[in-house]
Amino acid sequence: MEDIARLITGFRRFQKVYFRGDNELFDELKGGQNPNTLVIGCCDSRVDPAILTDSAPGELFVVRNVGNLVPPYEPDAGHHGISAALEYAVCGLQVQHVIVLGHSQCGGIAYLMKNEGAGQSEFIGHWVGMVSAAKQEVEDRLSGKPAEVKQRACEQAAILLSLDNLLTFPWLREKAEKGQLFLHGWYFDLVKGELLSYSPDTGAFQPLVRRAKA
Ligand SMILES: [Zn+2]
Repeated sequence: MEDIARLITGFRRFQKVYFRGDNELFDELKGGQNPNTLVIGCCDSRVDPAILTDSAPGELFVVRNVGNLVPPYEPDAGHHGISAALEYAVCGLQVQHVIVLGHSQCGGIAYLMKNEGAGQSEFIGHWVGMVSAAKQEVEDRLSGKPAEVKQRACEQAAILLSLDNLLTFPWLREKAEKGQLFLHGWYFDLVKGELLSYSPDTGAFQPLVRRAKA
């Protein structure tokens, strides 16, 4: 129960900051949220978008899933949690930015690279198989390269595939084409502590924030 006690203590610290009476943020937020940015991140415990960007409550609308993937537009009777969050963020909250935030050492992408089809999992293999085209592209392009090189390339290729999938949602595409919505592909290198961003001009991920100097 020690782990849970730590969380409760953590909530006490949070409460002190926001509900001690001298911070008005939640006075405003209790009336509703108005975030400008949607982040699609990975479930990985090391890559919390709010912590990585030092964001306050109310700033980011966040969806997290294994591998930070965006499924294609499939308007059927399935239970599409990511698509529902996208719809709410884009059509309801009218966010101006959508960031697909990938990262190095991603277990979801590692699973995709190591397994054919579903592998031994009940759900994971099928889920990450959504970006099997990214794996195939990397296997073809980097055939013979070390597994870590392919893994990183696949983590980045999966971000690009998710950005493509975002544009299959007609209401999202319309806003992007009108310049009312901006899409970003970010990659957090958790070994170097760097943040990279995809540049359509160069076709590569380039540092947004380089590694900190000692
Ligand atoms: Zn991950």
